[in-house]
Amino acid sequence: MVRVRVPAKVNLHLAVGQRRPDGYHDLVTVFHAVDLVDEVVVTTADRLALTVTGEGAADLAVDESNLAWQAAVVLAEAAGIDPAVRIELHKAIPVAGGMAGGSADAAGALLACATLWGLADVDLPVLAARLGSDTVFPLLGATALGRARGEVLAAIPPHDPLHWVLAFADAGISAGDAYRELDRQREAGTAAAPLGPPDALLAALAEGNPAAVAAALGNDLQPAALALRPSLRATLDAGTRHGALAGLVSGSGPTCAFLCPDDGAAHVLSAALEADRVCRSARVASGPAPGAQVIS
Ligand code: ATP
Repeated sequence: MVRVRVPAKVNLHLAVGQRRPDGYHDLVTVFHAVDLVDEVVVTTADRLALTVTGEGAADLAVDESNLAWQAAVVLAEAAGIDPAVRIELHKAIPVAGGMAGGSADAAGALLACATLWGLADVDLPVLAARLGSDTVFPLLGATALGRARGEVLAAIPPHDPLHWVLAFADAGISAGDAYRELDRQREAGTAAAPLGPPDALLAALAEGNPAAVAAALGNDLQPAALALRPSLRATLDAGTRHGALAGLVSGSGPTCAFLCPDDGAAHVLSAALEADRVCRSARVASGPAPGAQVIS
């Protein structure tokens, strides 16, 4: 049996380029892994099987449409073996929450199966990139600059811990819907000006200045997420009213991430957001968190 822990991400900066002919958008993004983790447990079995417990389990298929299942198949094909493995996902990352939970599970399943099958030489990031745009980053973790569809990564030097509150919503947003809404706003001429390069953010991270990091956070998909889920405006407003340095929609939403001055302020804010009923639930998190790792 192999047990792997794999982190969720928040995009500290998400600049979305124009839609490409292949339907994807070129991104310049700063991924940041937080200590909200899914666990992937794999055991040798007669044939491929999948179970899911925890956050969003009732909404998830346990067949070949699940990214963890696809990860086992892709790895087994690359190694020329049979994917005879039972995969258990224990989820804490919200489904369709803008935190790349499915991608995390795929990355976790790749590492877990590679370990179980003794495949030391397989290039996991290359296989991960085949499974999805956000699937490479959870292998790396910490904080990294992402380009192309998000799969071309460059590590950002280690920086001081950041203290977050994550506010989870009642229902997810499909990332495709958020990108389509942004395209629609751009065609209608109602979209906000696109973000530039993340220079100010990278300088603030290097300086270790949380207030400057807060001022430099940005997400081109946030207006689209707010158009699809107008109630998120009240969530964001409550966060800053209760002491966050800044708040933003995580990726395509609807999870909102609030940067706090310290861990104490994060606990106060988390309780206040739940008391105000502006989210389904809130939890304190911190980053940068490590990428996928075998824990037993
Ligand atoms: P991203 O931030 O990468 O755009 P997300 O966090 O918004 O993604 P995910 O939870 O990664 O959303 O999943 C999006 C969709 O992928 C789900 O609605 C589900 O249909 C599908 N999916 C497949 N496998 C999984 C999985 N193991 N966990 C979550 N979703 C999965």
